Amino acid sequence: MAGLGEILEENARLRELVRLQAEQVDAAVKSTAALTEQLAKLAEQFEALKASNEMYTRHFLFVEQRRKMAAAERLQSAEMQAPLFDGLRVEAPPRDPSLQPASADRQEENGKTDKRKSAAHQRKGRRDVADLPFPRRRLTAPVTPSTCDTCGGERQLTEPRVTHRVGWQPGHFTVVEVHQQQCRCPKCPKAEVWAAPEPELLPGAMCDDSLLARVIVDKFGDHLPLNRQADRMTREGFPVNENVLSGWVRQGATPLRLLVSALRKQVAQASTILGDDSGFPVQDGTDGRLGNGRLWVFTDRRQAFFAFSRTKEGEHPAAVLQSLDVAGIRLVVDGGSEYNDAVAELGLNRGGCWSHLRRYFFDAAVQHEDAKAGLKTIMDLFLIERQIADVSDAERLATRKARSAPLVDGFYTWVRALVPKVRPGSKLGAAVGYAMSQEPRMRLFLEHGDVPLHNNLSELLLRQPIVGRKNWLFAGSEGGALAAADWFSLIASCRMQKLDPWVYLYDVFGRLLDYPSQRVHELTPLNWRLAVEKGDITPRSRGAGSKVS
Ligand SMILES: [Zn+2]
Repeated sequence: MAGLGEILEENARLRELVRLQAEQVDAAVKSTAALTEQLAKLAEQFEALKASNEMYTRHFLFVEQRRKMAAAERLQSAEMQAPLFDGLRVEAPPRDPSLQPASADRQEENGKTDKRKSAAHQRKGRRDVADLPFPRRRLTAPVTPSTCDTCGGERQLTEPRVTHRVGWQPGHFTVVEVHQQQCRCPKCPKAEVWAAPEPELLPGAMCDDSLLARVIVDKFGDHLPLNRQADRMTREGFPVNENVLSGWVRQGATPLRLLVSALRKQVAQASTILGDDSGFPVQDGTDGRLGNGRLWVFTDRRQAFFAFSRTKEGEHPAAVLQSLDVAGIRLVVDGGSEYNDAVAELGLNRGGCWSHLRRYFFDAAVQHEDAKAGLKTIMDLFLIERQIADVSDAERLATRKARSAPLVDGFYTWVRALVPKVRPGSKLGAAVGYAMSQEPRMRLFLEHGDVPLHNNLSELLLRQPIVGRKNWLFAGSEGGALAAADWFSLIASCRMQKLDPWVYLYDVFGRLLDYPSQRVHELTPLNWRLAVEKGDITPRSRGAGSKVS
């Protein structure tokens, strides 16, 4: 049997075990308390983070909302404040109507319902523009604070009016933030707000001048129809439809009219101008059928202008030239009878086109070996002209008298000898008949150094719109055709002056807004190029404005 010693030993062992366990339990309790404490701290931190996250979210929503509101020209609204109140919808507090800026918005609220509808529509468009993901650029239209009409005090600058437009820089769209500065008298609450005018050619449009210029050049320079332009823009991230673009093109032509008129006058100042014409059908809009139309071009070889008329009658070129006071100048055209009126009424000195005459003999040469002799002489005349292309008019005239005149005399001696021998109905008969009827016109270049041998240049200029004619299904209407003639005039003149028409138009659109009308001739492609070369004009595209964000 176990002794007392053994029992005592067992008892001590058990007691030690209990003590150790109690110690462990104690430690466990302590560590649980520490963990609980730590957890509480973490929970606290989490709450703090959550709160600050919510704050940032609200702030972000607020900033976003404010940006959209600014785009919509609205400074305060219930929607803007809502995110500040944890999603609770709170009515905006009332405001003193006499203290609010006299924005378009407020005027519209006082106006008619349909007006409000269209303004709301426009606001939506503007908001969409502000959200487009393109590089942003700021354009500030400054206003000079003047004195108040009522109290004579100084007007002070207030918040600018901010709108958004889509712009275009070579290679990409931009979002243009237009800041129109505003000022008002701080002492007279009812005094008017004076705002800087919109610094873009088309008031209230979604496009800025750079994008308008691109649309014009693509359509009238590169013959890209508006529907295809709209498709391309949509693909490139700016959803827009054809009708919007067509509105820009129509609206844009009006402020350009004075400039085109100045361009016409410059061309008409030359002592020799070249002309040509071609069919240019228009859609009447009634039954979708094509109506007649005619496009005329006149050039002094430095610039050119186009004119449109419904018919081919001679009264049209006569009226165009009459309005330009060109009495007595030399006009180089082909043999067409449509210039007879102008020549007779205005006492013009008419020159013929040796290219045209050459074509008659070229056609005849297929059947008549004789015609080839005439072609060779005409070729010599062209080769002589190539040698004297860059000399002065006086030198050119001297060379022509010495070398070309004997060739022309010989040519006409040859033609006269052919007259009794050719059948009038044959190709050679037609060539001989044309040569005989045009003789004085064909000889005009032998009297004047500045008269060209041919009017190939004006034919070339006309070819541009005619290529486009196929591509964009004719001018949409007579008004459209008149506008097209103006755009062709500017773009063709840019090309003749070796200017990028986009750079030119973008710059000129900006200048036209406040250019004195009696000095608008300074902005024609020729004079604009000279001003750029002199450093008087720095094209807008070279200083694209300050970038934001
Ligand atoms: Zn005042």
